[in-house]
Parts: sequence; C-alpha cells; structure tokens
Amino acid sequence: MLKGRTAVITGSGRGIGKAIAMKLASYGANIVINDIPSSEDADKTCEEIKAMGVDSIVIKGDVRNKDDVDSLIAKTLEQFGKIDIFVNNAGITRDCLMIRMSEEDWDLVMDINLKGAFNCIKAVARPMMKQRSGAIINIASIVGVMGNPGQANYVASKAGLIGLTKTTAKEFATRGIRCNAVAPGFISSAMTDVLSEDVKKQYFDAIPLGRFGETENIADVVAFLASDMSQYVTGQVINVDGGLVM
Ligand code: NAP
Repeated sequence: MLKGRTAVITGSGRGIGKAIAMKLASYGANIVINDIPSSEDADKTCEEIKAMGVDSIVIKGDVRNKDDVDSLIAKTLEQFGKIDIFVNNAGITRDCLMIRMSEEDWDLVMDINLKGAFNCIKAVARPMMKQRSGAIINIASIVGVMGNPGQANYVASKAGLIGLTKTTAKEFATRGIRCNAVAPGFISSAMTDVLSEDVKKQYFDAIPLGRFGETENIADVVAFLASDMSQYVTGQVINVDGGLVM
C-alpha cells in the first residue's frame, strides 16, 4: 500500500510515534525517525524497522527549533529524494490546574505541540507543493475537542492543532496535499502510565468499547490517512477513542 513512499514521523522513538513508524514500514514505506537529541530509543526503533526490510534513518532534532526542522527536511530529501507522508506526532503534557499553571509550562507545551507542528508543516509544504502530492497527519487529542480540567495548556495546543489541520488542508488542497488529524482517546503509553488510578478509572468507565486503546489502533488510522485509500479525505479529525466522544 505504501511501497517506496517516504514517511517522516516526529517523536517516533517510542510510544504512538513508534507504532506509526512500524505500521507504515509494514506497508512498505521508508521511514525517517525523528526524536529529541537526547533520545535513547530512536536508534533502536530504526534498527527494528530496518529488520522489516525497508530503509530507515534517524534524524534527531527538536521540533521547536526551526533550524532543526529545516535540517530534518533537507536531510530526508538528500537521502530519499521526496517526502510523501509527514506525521506531526511529537507532543508532551505538563498537567496542572489552570490557577497554578506556570507560564513556563504553558509556553513549553504550546511550543512543542503546536508551534512544532507549524514549523514542520511550513518546512515540508515546499517539497510537497513541488511534487504536487503529500499527506500530512497531525496527532491531536480527544481533549482538544472536549476540553479537560487540569490540561489547559495541552487542550489549547491540541485544539489549535485541529485548527491548523483545517487551515493547512484548505491552503494546500489545490497543490495535491491532504492534511488530516487523528484524535486519540486514552491510549496505553508512557504519557498515560503516569496518571492516577482514579483518573484512569474515570476514563475507563466512560469508554463505550470498555477498554483503553493501544498505540496500534492509532497507527492503523494514520496508515489509512497516509495511503491512497483516503484520496478524497482532507481537513478531517478522526476520533480514535473507543466511542468516548460521539
Ligand atoms: P510519548 O510516549 O511521551 O512519546 C512522545 C515522543 O515525542 C517521545 O519520543 C518524545 O521524546 C518525543 N518528543 C518530545 N518532545 C519533542 C520535541 N520537542 N521534538 C521532537 N520529539 C519530541 O507519548 P505518546 O503517548 O506516544 O504520544 C504521542 C502523541 O500522541 C502526542 O502528540 C500526544 O499528545 C498524542 N496523544 C497521546 C494520547 C495517549 O493517550 N497516550 C492521547 C491523545 C493524544 P523523548 O522520549 O525522548 O522524550
């Protein structure tokens, strides 16, 4: 389904990003793993992907930093000649009730989750416009749709990412570039492992399918959005949340 295509996934050393990288590789795409410079997981993930029979490289860099992002795009083009799929996955949380939330934690989350995606979209749009094709997929969150106490910074960043997705879809549609968002619900990963048992139970009780999601559930939908099977889909937000939000 994706044989010979080039996919870049930010923050893909571990978690949902790694699952997306492995899934796209399983459909034949060559993979660029991006993660922060101090990541210890990126090289290991890259080796696992190469063992699947596709080409893969690691390009470390912080999505907040425009020079790092420009270099991610330039090095990918140098190695593979094109970029067909770009997944904005890198993201963090710094949860706290708004009344106690520091300006630093607000800025940090907005910088990585929202400005990071803006940096990447801006940089990858040029080569994609030249090719007159490309699929950009942004990993948002269900809380960006429904709001969530204790996550003002994260929710605002993900709601912003949904707005950015729709604007990107509209600005680049005539150039053959599609842009969609996936909004995960509660997915078992390092990000949710740290939540209290009380919070986990509250989520669990509200999920109609009666189970937490797996990283692979997100990767499956990303693969669909990255492929020609979604040729007529752009500007959409697909909730992958076991029915939590309807
Ligand atoms: P995760 O396990 O913490 O993975 C996030 C990855 O992003 C890590 O590899 C991290 O690097 C990397 N990263 C952090 N800051 C970065 C930066 N500035 N530049 C480049 N890479 C950076 O989290 P996850 O659960 O897989 O989440 C992945 C995405 O899904 C995030 O956007 C998150 O908001 C979204 N999401 C997750 C859930 C969930 O339930 N897990 C729900 C909704 C949405 P290090 O490991 O080196 O720190």
